[in-house]
Amino acid sequence: MTAATLTIDLNAVVANWRALDAMSASNVETAAVVKAEGYGLGAGHVSAALAKAGARSFFVALAEEGVALRKSVGNDPAIYVFSGLMATDAALIRDYNLIPLLNSPSQLVKFRMGMPEAAFGIQIDTGMNRLGLEPADFVMVREKAKGASLIISHLACADAPEHPQNDAQLQCFNKLTKGMSARRSLAATGGILLGPDYHFDLCRPGVGLYGGEPFTKASPVVTLSVPVIQTRNVAVGETVGYAAAWAAQRPSKIATVAAGYADGLIRAMGAGRTYLWAGNRPCPVVGRVSMDLITVDVTDVPNAPKFLDILNAEQTVDKLADNAGTIGYEILTGLGARYKRDYVGG
Ligand SMILES: *Cc1c(COP(=O)(O)O)cnc(C)c1O
Repeated sequence: MTAATLTIDLNAVVANWRALDAMSASNVETAAVVKAEGYGLGAGHVSAALAKAGARSFFVALAEEGVALRKSVGNDPAIYVFSGLMATDAALIRDYNLIPLLNSPSQLVKFRMGMPEAAFGIQIDTGMNRLGLEPADFVMVREKAKGASLIISHLACADAPEHPQNDAQLQCFNKLTKGMSARRSLAATGGILLGPDYHFDLCRPGVGLYGGEPFTKASPVVTLSVPVIQTRNVAVGETVGYAAAWAAQRPSKIATVAAGYADGLIRAMGAGRTYLWAGNRPCPVVGRVSMDLITVDVTDVPNAPKFLDILNAEQTVDKLADNAGTIGYEILTGLGARYKRDYVGG
């Protein structure tokens, strides 16, 4: 049987990167965040396509991700590591020419002593309270931070433009870094959309590249097509799936497809809201989503379909996320390892 196929349109990724880049002034660099395996789509393919299109800086979460990335983009692009300098990172950072975004005064001191010549960046916490130097600590080490190649901070509420914390973090970042010659970066996807005050020298979008909100004008990047393993007729009153949660109201044709919550199609999105598509015809999910299987009502499809699509231009990652009470980021990064990944363009 052919596996479920996740098709990733690298031309759409590049188009999204260009569209985001066009939102900032020409002297602002647009980098690319490819952590978590390029949000589940394949960091190697995505970054190679973006490097070819002109991206010069990439961000990953972990040094190990940076090592893999260095192998796919070659020696030239800058690779920044959000997690900073964790215990076993120093050798990887040196050997693969990665740039840690140092998150505490002790990381800064340790890194500068260990590798005085190596490039480094700094992350300041301006209000998210997740990662980065506290403002007071940053003020204390400001002299030592002067050699940084990049100073970043991260917005907690950028997807809510009216939220007062955006401006509060912007002012904090401006105040702390004013007069420093290091390049500065505050905006991820949401921050780019907040406008030029947030752009500084470098923007670092992630989710928007992959077609996700808050970049609502993004080109869709993924389609997911799942094979039908079996189709059966179900009489009125017969039930389908675990807990007998769905009962046929009419004589029905039920297709069972080979993907489930173990493939990131999380159980909570289940029946009632989510469709699988036979071409351009939406067919409702019926019954509970199982680990490896989903049941779909295909009664109205004239010819029993061999494949059904669960992600397409109509039913995007954000729609699927809505149905499951989560966010597109979680759907993307959860897309399963069992899918065959097909790349087009790039
Ligand atoms: C993940 C992340 C980004 C990218 O965010 P998106 O919302 O996906 O654009 C940028 N900066 C930091 C610090 C991050 O953790």
